Amino acid sequence: MSNNIQHIINQKRINRLKRTLKKINQYQAEFETLSDEALQHKTAQFKQALKDKTHTLDDLLPVAYAVVREASRRVLGMFPKDVQVLGAIVLHEGNMAEMQTGEGKTLTATMPLYLNGLTGKGAYLITTNDYLAKRDYLEMKPLFEWLGLTIALGFVDIPDYEYEPDEKKEIYRHDIVYTTNGRLGFDYLIDNLADGHEGKFLPPLYYGIIDEVDSIILDSAQTPLVISGAPRLQSNLFRIVKAFVETLEKETHFEVETVKKEIWLTDAGIEKANAYFGIPNLYDADYFDLVRNINLALRARYLFEANMDYFVYNGEVVLIDRITGRMMPGTKLQSGLHQAIEAKEEIEISKDMSVMATITFQNLFKEFEQFAGMSATSKLGEEEFLELYSKIVVQIPTDRPIERIDYPDRVFINALRKNEAILARVEALHEMQRPVLLITRTAEVAEYFSNALFEKDIPNNLLIAQNVAKEAQMIAEAGHLNAVTVATSMAGRGTDIKLEDGVKELGGLAVIVTEHMENSRVDRQLRGRSGRQGDPGSSQIYISLDDYLVKRWGKSKLLEQSRLDEMSPDDLEQSKIFQRRVNKVVRNAQRVAEEQGMRAREMANEYEKSLSIQRNLIYQERNRILNLWNRTDLNLSDIARDVFRHDLPKSSELTEAYVVEYIYKHLSFQFKKDLSDINIKRKKEVIEYLVALFEERLDHQQAKLNNDYLFTRFVQKAILKAIDSNWMIQVDYLQQLKASVNNRQHGQRNAIFEYHRVALASFDAMKLQIKADIIQYLCQSVTTFDKKGKLVVHFPS
Ligand code: ADP
Ligand code: MG
Repeated sequence: MSNNIQHIINQKRINRLKRTLKKINQYQAEFETLSDEALQHKTAQFKQALKDKTHTLDDLLPVAYAVVREASRRVLGMFPKDVQVLGAIVLHEGNMAEMQTGEGKTLTATMPLYLNGLTGKGAYLITTNDYLAKRDYLEMKPLFEWLGLTIALGFVDIPDYEYEPDEKKEIYRHDIVYTTNGRLGFDYLIDNLADGHEGKFLPPLYYGIIDEVDSIILDSAQTPLVISGAPRLQSNLFRIVKAFVETLEKETHFEVETVKKEIWLTDAGIEKANAYFGIPNLYDADYFDLVRNINLALRARYLFEANMDYFVYNGEVVLIDRITGRMMPGTKLQSGLHQAIEAKEEIEISKDMSVMATITFQNLFKEFEQFAGMSATSKLGEEEFLELYSKIVVQIPTDRPIERIDYPDRVFINALRKNEAILARVEALHEMQRPVLLITRTAEVAEYFSNALFEKDIPNNLLIAQNVAKEAQMIAEAGHLNAVTVATSMAGRGTDIKLEDGVKELGGLAVIVTEHMENSRVDRQLRGRSGRQGDPGSSQIYISLDDYLVKRWGKSKLLEQSRLDEMSPDDLEQSKIFQRRVNKVVRNAQRVAEEQGMRAREMANEYEKSLSIQRNLIYQERNRILNLWNRTDLNLSDIARDVFRHDLPKSSELTEAYVVEYIYKHLSFQFKKDLSDINIKRKKEVIEYLVALFEERLDHQQAKLNNDYLFTRFVQKAILKAIDSNWMIQVDYLQQLKASVNNRQHGQRNAIFEYHRVALASFDAMKLQIKADIIQYLCQSVTTFDKKGKLVVHFPS
C-alpha cells in the first residue's frame, strides 16, 4: 500500500478516536472541582455498574478515562495528554498503538489498565524485563491505589526465589499486575502442571497490554518458552551421520535454499544413504531416527555458520543473538540441532534435554480474552500482527512535532576507514560538548570504540551486558553535556533520555549507529533514542562493505566493476554511484534478512499449530478434571470398557491365560478367582467381566480411603498423572518430529502437511494410552498419608 493511502486510513482511524476523546474532555472541568473522596468514589460506582450490568466497559470508557486523568494529575503530577488518551483508546480496543519514544506509554497504559481492572478479572502490563516491570509498577502504584484498585508486581524480585504455595495465587488476585512476558509464560506452563486444584494459581488470562510489542512478539518469536524434563536417551548417531554427510555433494546429493533455511536430500542422496548404511529404504518407518539425524547434520553443516550463528567457546557451542550480536550462553537449539552442531565442530556432545512443556509467546497471548500492544515501531510489524491476531496498528501523532534530523547514511569501503570516520565525528561533536550516543551491533565493537575513545582522551560510558538497572541509569545520563555513551542496540531500552540544560541549544543528542541492524525496525528504534518530546537531535548510520549485514545477506558484486576498482578509496567513497550502490546492497540485504525472519516466524507458526491445538485440548481436559467434584460425572466404567475393547484381541484368540495375565498387569495384583463362570471365547462377555472387576477395584479403593472427598482427590490425581505423563511424551515427540519430517522432493509445504498428519495420529494414539493408564492407575495405585496427613498416591510404573 502506498504511504499516502496508509496515511489517509490512519487519519480516519484517528478521527474516530477523537470523537471519543471529545467526550472524555467534556468531563474535565467538572472533575477538577470534585473532592478527592468524590473522585475516588467513582471506582466503586463503576464496579457497581458493571456488576448490575447497567454499563459495559465500552460505555464506561470516557468517564473512567477522565477519572484516571484527573487522578493522575493529583497523584503523579502528570495530566495525560490528548495523544496519550488516543493511544489509551486503541489499547482498550485491543489493537496496537504506535507511539514514539518518550511520548509516555507507561502513563498511557494506566487508563485501559484501570478500566479493565474494574472487572476484577486481572489486567496485566507485560514488558521485556524485570527492571522495567518493577520500575513502571512502582511509578504507577500510587495512582491505582489512590483510585481504589489493587496492584502487584508479578513476581518476587529476588534471584531464584522459591515461592510458597499460595504466594503466586496471592499475586494474581490483584486487579492490576505488572510483569514480564517470560515470567507470565512460565507461570502459564507451570500452572498447567498443577496436580490438584490447590496448585492452580493463574486465573484465566483476561486483559493484557504488551509494552515493546514488536520486540516481544516478533523478535523473540524464534525462542519459545521451554520447561525441560529429563535428559533424552542419547542418540549415538551424531558422529556417524556427520561423517556420512561430509561425503555428500551439493546439488547432486542434496539441495539447499540458504535464505529459506531449507535443505533436503535428492534421489541420488537417498540412494547414497541406503548404500552407506546398508538399508533398503531410508524413508521406511524403521529409520525415523536416522532420517532425523541426517536432516540435523545437513542443517548443522550448511545452514549454521561458525562465528555468524554461533561461536565455539571453551569447548561449547554458544549461540549468537542475530539482532544484538550478543552471545547467548545457556540457550540451546532444540531437538538435537545443538548436538548436531557439536558433532560438526568435533567437540563433546552435550545432553539433549526432553521438552516437558512449551509455548511460543505468539500463542501465549492468544490465551488472553483481549490484549493490545504498544511500541515506537509497531507499524513495520503490522502485516504480521494482522495475520496473527487480526490486529491493526494505529499511529498516534506525537504531542509536539519531531525535530530530529535523520541524516543520510555515510558509506565506506571497509571497516577500518569507517571506524576512523566515526571516531573523528564523535571527537568533533564532543569538542562542542554535544552528547553522543554511539550504538554498535555487538559488544566487541562497542568495546573497541570505547577503548579508542579513551585513547583520544574522550571519557565515555560503555554499556555492554551490564545488569539492566545499571544500563538504565547510565543511559538516562546520555543526554548530559559532554556525555559520550557507547552501547549495544538493546542496552537500556525503555529508558527515557532527558536532555540537560544547554544541550538543546547545541542540537540535542547525536545518535551515531555503526552499522545497519538486521531489521529496519531496530534501526528506527535506535534513531528514536534522540528527539524525544519535540527535542532537537540527530541520527546517522554508517555503512561499510565489511558490515555483518552485507557479508551475511548481500550478494555484492560491487567491486568487481573495474571502473570502481581503479578509483582511490577517497574518490570511491565520494562517488555518488558507489554510495548509491552500497546503499542498495545494504537495503537489499536488510530486506532479505527481514523476509527470512518473517518466513522463519511463519514456519514456526505453521509447525506450532498442531501443538497449540493439542495443548489447548489437553489443558481444557485438565481443567475439567481439576474442577470436578463428583466421580459419577466421569463415567469411569465407560472409559474402562473402551480400553478393554481396544486392548483385548478378537474372540477367537482369547484364552484364559491371556485374560488372567491381563488382569494382573492392569487391574489387580492379587486376582484369585477362576474364570470358569464366563465364556472366555466371547469378547463381549470378557469385557463386561473386566468392567465389573474394575468397578470392584474402585469400590475397594474408595472403601480404603473411607472418605468421599479424598476418594475424589485420588481419582483426580490418577487421571492427571495419566494425562501429564503421556502429554509430556507427546510434546517431546512433536519437537523431535519437526526435525525428522521428510521434506524430500516436495519442498517445505508437504513437510508441514506430513508433520500435521503424524502429529494428529500420535495424538489419537496418546488419547488411548491416557485412558489405559487411567484405568491402571485407578486399580493398582496404593494410597497412603504423609506426616501432615496429606494424601499420597503411589502409582504403579
Ligand atoms: P515511552 O515509554 O513512551 O518512551 P515513558 O513512559 O518512559 O515514555 O515516558 C517518558 C517521560 O515522559 C517520563 O519521564 C514520564 O514521566 C514523562 N511523561 C509521560 N507522560 C507525561 C505527561 N502527560 N505529562 C508530563 N510528563 C509525562
Ligand atoms: Mg516505555
